[in-house]
Parts: sequence; C-alpha cells; structure tokens
Amino acid sequence: MSVTVRVPAKVNVQLAVGGARPDGFHDLANVFLAVGLYDEVTVSPADTLRVTCEGPDASQVPLDRTNLAARAVEKLAARYGRRADVHIHIAKDIPVAGGMAGGSADGAGALVACDALWGTGASRDELLEICAELGSDVPFSLVGGAALGTGRGERLRVLEVGGSFHWVFAVADGGLSTPAVYGEFDRLNEGVSVPEPVASGGVLAALASGDASALAEAVSNDLQAAALSLRPSLASALAVGVDGGALAGIVSGSGPTTAFLVADAEAGGKVADALVGAGVCRAARVAVGPVGGAVVV
Ligand code: ATP
Repeated sequence: MSVTVRVPAKVNVQLAVGGARPDGFHDLANVFLAVGLYDEVTVSPADTLRVTCEGPDASQVPLDRTNLAARAVEKLAARYGRRADVHIHIAKDIPVAGGMAGGSADGAGALVACDALWGTGASRDELLEICAELGSDVPFSLVGGAALGTGRGERLRVLEVGGSFHWVFAVADGGLSTPAVYGEFDRLNEGVSVPEPVASGGVLAALASGDASALAEAVSNDLQAAALSLRPSLASALAVGVDGGALAGIVSGSGPTTAFLVADAEAGGKVADALVGAGVCRAARVAVGPVGGAVVV
C-alpha cells in the first residue's frame, strides 16, 4: 500500500523583509502564490525510514534525515507515538534551492501522505502546526492558492484571487542558499533603519481582481538586491525576460530562479524561448497560478 501526494511550488509576488531581529530572523510580509510545477511524494511502509528521489535535480537533494520530508514524517510519528518506518520517494520537478520552496513542498507532501497512510486523523490545524515547526514556507505548501504570510512567514491569511496568472520561470545553474541571501541582505542594510514589512495594497488588489498588468506594476522582492549582489548574472536574465515581452520580472524568493509574469500562454512561450535562446538560464518553465495545495492523488 502506498499514498502519493502532489504539492506545488510557489512564487512570492511580494516579499517584504524587515530588519534582522535579535534572534537573527526577519519579520516578513510575504504574499505567496502557488504555481503549477509539482513534486510528488509517495510514502509506503518499510523496515526503516529511507528517502529516495528522482528527477533532473535529484543529485542535489539530501537523502538523509535532514531532508524536510523525513523530518516531517518523524515529527508526525513522534506526535502519534509510532515509528517513522516508511519509504519516502520524491519525484522532483521543482528546481532545488531555486527560491520556489521545493523542500518545503516535500515536507508538506510527506506529512499529508503519512497522515493518510497511517490514518492518524490529524486535524488541519495540527498539520499546519507541524508545518510551521519545519519551516516558514511549509504551511503555505500545504494550503496552496494565495496567502499572506506574516511573522516569519508562517502565519497565513488566505487571499481571494480573481483570475489566473501566467508565469515563466528561468531556472539558473546552481542554487543560492537562503541563509546566505539573508546574510547579504543584512550586510547591504547595515546601519540602515529597515521599515516594518507590510503587505502592499497594490499586490492584494491586483490578485483580487485577477489583473496581470496591475500585478506586474506591484510585484516586489526585498531580497532581490541581495540575490543580485551574490549572483550578478541574474540581472541579464531579468533584462532578457522583460525585453522578450514579460509584463514584469522578479527574483523568486531568495533566488536564483527568476520569475516572469506574462499576459497569457502565448506570451509565456515567447519569453521562455527568449530566455533559452539567450543562454541566460539552464531551463525555462511555464506555469499558471494559483493552484491548490498538497493533495492526495
Ligand atoms: P525556499 O524557497 O523555501 O527558500 P528553496 O526553493 O530555495 O527554498 P529548496 O529546494 O527547498 O530551496 O532547498 C534548499 C536546501 O534544502 C537544499 O539545498 C537541500 O540541501 C535542502 N533540502 C532538504 N530537504 C529537501 C528536499 N526534500 N528537497 C530539496 N532540498 C531539500
């Protein structure tokens, strides 16, 4: 017997970052949109906990207990007083270390899958609590759709979205470490009084109306300067995507994936061709959002 859960990637249509707190974390106002690039996490009973992974980036995924999917399963098992003896298989399509919350997706997926496999009957709130312990992006992977995350990003308010948005993602060679990007953000903002992060009225209104042009005007990412500082070549990808017809280009989360909002599927194809043709990315992927969160398939 096995259970498979499909979990989407995310793009941040707004990522507002406050100054470093005494504990080193940053307060965020984070507007997440789940997009249709998916990992599939399958769990089945086994003699001991083990993780396997397939997909183009599989070699970069840790297969030990640091894997977020393994950590999720261990947390659920501990809570229900049982052994975490499952084989977790991840079919990975979300770029690794790309700022698209791939690891978080696998954590949420494994949790939902084991909950179903074991019939724990955990409530949605319990699952969300475990997700928040795993990482600030994990609760959103469970919920999907669109949401505003505050605090470290883990307190979620679901947002209504009035339409579908088309995106192109330029997958860069190699990843960027999220802690390194926050470290660079702190360095760039040394001595600067960083304002409290607040959700942008423009972003929320554009999502609610489903207006891609308005969203293009409003998208922002406070980590973009730090990601560009660590990886200056991302500026070329942003320029090629916008010159190729994107309504807006932005670094996705902590990068190095760059995300381009486009008017429709046809424009998306053109932007993807321009990005690949210019050689500024390893691959270009098109996807539409919002899509639902973690779901048993
Ligand atoms: P975020 O957008 O949440 O900052 P990300 O998309 O930049 O995350 P991930 O793909 O989640 O990055 O991977 C970040 C690191 O986490 C990887 O380099 C890897 O070492 C580790 N990791 C742990 N579990 C997983 C997993 N299941 N899949 C991918 N990476 C994982």
